[in-house]
Amino acid sequence: MMNKRAVVLYLTLISGLLLIVAGWYTASFLTFGAGTESAGETAAVNFTTATAGVTAQPESFDGARAYIDVQTQVDMGPRTPGSEGHAQVREWMREELESAGWTVEFHESERLGHPIYNLIAKRSSEQPQIIFAAHYDTRFAADNDPDESKRTQPVPGANDGASGVAVLLELARTLPESTIPVWLVFFDTEDNGRIEGWDWILGSRAFVEEISIQPQAVVIVDMIGDADLNLYYEKNSDKTIRAEIWETAARLGYGNVFIQTEKHSMLDDHTPFLEKGIPAVDIIDFDYPYWHTTADTPDKVSPESLQAVGDTLWHWAASRTGE
Ligand SMILES: [Zn+2]
Repeated sequence: MMNKRAVVLYLTLISGLLLIVAGWYTASFLTFGAGTESAGETAAVNFTTATAGVTAQPESFDGARAYIDVQTQVDMGPRTPGSEGHAQVREWMREELESAGWTVEFHESERLGHPIYNLIAKRSSEQPQIIFAAHYDTRFAADNDPDESKRTQPVPGANDGASGVAVLLELARTLPESTIPVWLVFFDTEDNGRIEGWDWILGSRAFVEEISIQPQAVVIVDMIGDADLNLYYEKNSDKTIRAEIWETAARLGYGNVFIQTEKHSMLDDHTPFLEKGIPAVDIIDFDYPYWHTTADTPDKVSPESLQAVGDTLWHWAASRTGE
């Protein structure tokens, strides 16, 4: 039994503790900047007014919003070259980028008799220091499908196609204006190698051959949405930049996703850049059981995986300075 005085004392102590916890919670929330719905300019203003030493940030990368972009793309149907979905996704990307304050240009070309439409998003006329890129096309044939009767069907491309595009679009909405000049490039016709009359990475080859650039770094994101995401060092990637990115991830608590061990050696959209002596990194999880199957659908992708990659690239880009 407690007497009245003891009860009062006890209650006071508890309310005091509650106040401290609530205060600490609010403070941490303010410090790390909860995501607000306003994009672009508001975020930039917040960033520039943030004082040194305070970790206040502009709008942060939102994996949940990126996940919706994965679903939106898959809902358009296959984005195979020349298809309705292919034209539709391009127009949608242009609208999303423009409403986030980016200027969009199409780089049109042709390879092996196929038209190529790469999309380039910029925020200034300055030469790009960083290029983030992903392919937006999907594959004509799910030739890895365990069900032989489905191998001529197109790949839905939730992870292989849509996930990279989604991360780029969310970066477009949230990267601080103060970031060194960035281009976001959406490559066409990456994914139809080993199909009669086609080859891999046609869009990025055309881009590198026809557009003169000298960025510090090119970062490709491809198949980075797998709910069971394991990102190993890709063997051909630039070692300095890949270490920087994986270190950034570790610092942010994504060390379980970004694993600092080499695994696969890829031919991907980073290859043409490397061949030209431009430092490039391929961020890819090539241990995806649904690769080039009809089961590459949004339920295999998670907002958390998109968040890990997007948040890492956001912080890495924001920390980079001009040369
Ligand atoms: Zn593919």
